[in-house]
Amino acid sequence: MVDRAAVPSDVVDALATAKRVLLLAHLYPDGDVLGSQLGLGLALRTTGRPVTFACHHPVPEAFHFLPGAAEVQQWKEGTGGHDLVVTLDTPDPGRVGGLLEGCRRPGTRVLNLDHHGDNRRYGDVNWIDPQAAATGEMVYGVLEATGLPLTPDVAVNLYTAVVTDTGSFRYSNTTPKTLRIAARLVEAGADPAAIAQALYETRHLAGLQLLGRLLQEVQTNAVGTVAWMVIDRAHAASPDLLEAEDFITYPRSLRTVKVAVLFRELARQEGATPRPPEPPQVKVSLRAKGEVDVARLAASLGGGGHPNAAGVVIPGTLDEVRRRVLDAVEAAVAAR
Ligand code: 5GP
Ligand code: MN
Repeated sequence: MVDRAAVPSDVVDALATAKRVLLLAHLYPDGDVLGSQLGLGLALRTTGRPVTFACHHPVPEAFHFLPGAAEVQQWKEGTGGHDLVVTLDTPDPGRVGGLLEGCRRPGTRVLNLDHHGDNRRYGDVNWIDPQAAATGEMVYGVLEATGLPLTPDVAVNLYTAVVTDTGSFRYSNTTPKTLRIAARLVEAGADPAAIAQALYETRHLAGLQLLGRLLQEVQTNAVGTVAWMVIDRAHAASPDLLEAEDFITYPRSLRTVKVAVLFRELARQEGATPRPPEPPQVKVSLRAKGEVDVARLAASLGGGGHPNAAGVVIPGTLDEVRRRVLDAVEAAVAAR
C-alpha cells in the first residue's frame, strides 16, 4: 500500500458506480495521458463493464506498444451513451479538442483526474494532485483505493506514464512515492528495460538523421541561458519521425540553459480548431530547470503546464511566434 488515504472518496464512488465508461486523452497524446487512460480503462474492463477510449489525435507510433493502444478511437466530436466520462492529464476542457461537449448529457458525470496545478476543475468530480509526478501515479492510487486489479497490461501502461512524465526519473517531480509506485508496477509485470527500449530505441534511420540536422540548427541567446530548436512544416511532414523524439531535451541539456524552447509549425490538419482558411499555427514547448516558472510564462501566452514543462499553441507564422515567445522568455529570465 503506497498511499490509499490520498484518493478522495467521491472519486472511488464515481468509479464504483459507473456502468459505461469513456476515457478521453488530450490533444497530442503523450505517454502520461495514454498510459493513464489505458491503465485505468483496462483495469475497469476486468470488472466486465464496457470501456471506450477516445482522443482527437491519433496515438503516435512510439506508443503503439502500449497494451490497448490499438483501441483508442480517433474522434472529431464527442458522443453520448456513457454514464461516466473520465478525463486524464487534462487541465482545461479545451485540451480534449472539444470532445467533452458532445459527451456531456443528462445523467453523464465527468471525472477529472489530473496533476496540473492550473486545472480548472471542470468535472462533476475533480481530483487534482500537483504533487503527483504523473497522472499515472494518481491512477495507481485509484486502483489501490478501489481494489481494481493491477494486471501486467495495466502495469505496463502506468509505468510508461510515470517514466515519460519524469524524464525516466530524472526530473524534479520524481519523489520517493514515485519510485515506490514504479517498484510496485515492476513487481506487477512492467519490464523497465523492455519499456525503455520500446520508447527510446525504436528510431528509424531517417528520424536519427533528422535529429542530426535539427541539432545543427539549435540556437542560443548571447549568454546561453535560452536555447531553442525550430521544426518547420517541411520537417513536420513526417509526423511519425517527430513524435518518436523528445527533441526539447537537447536544447535543455546545455550547461548554461535556464529555459529551452521548441517551435513546431503545425501541419494543416493538426490544429485543435481547424477552420478554413486555416491560419498558420505553431506549437511551442517550454522547459526550465527550476529557476524560471514556464507554466506562468505559457499561461501569459494562452497555454499552461507545470513549472518546469509547459506549452501553448499560438496562431502566426514561425517567425512571428518565435519573436514573440523569445521576447517573453528573455523577460522572464531577466526577471530572475
Ligand atoms: P509538451 O511541451 O511536451 O507538449 O507539453 C508539456 C506540458 O505543457 C504538458 O504536460 C502540458 O501540461 C502543457 N501543454 C503543452 N501544450 C499545451 C497547450 O497547448 N495548452 C496548454 N494549456 N498546456 C499545454
Ligand atoms: Mn502529465
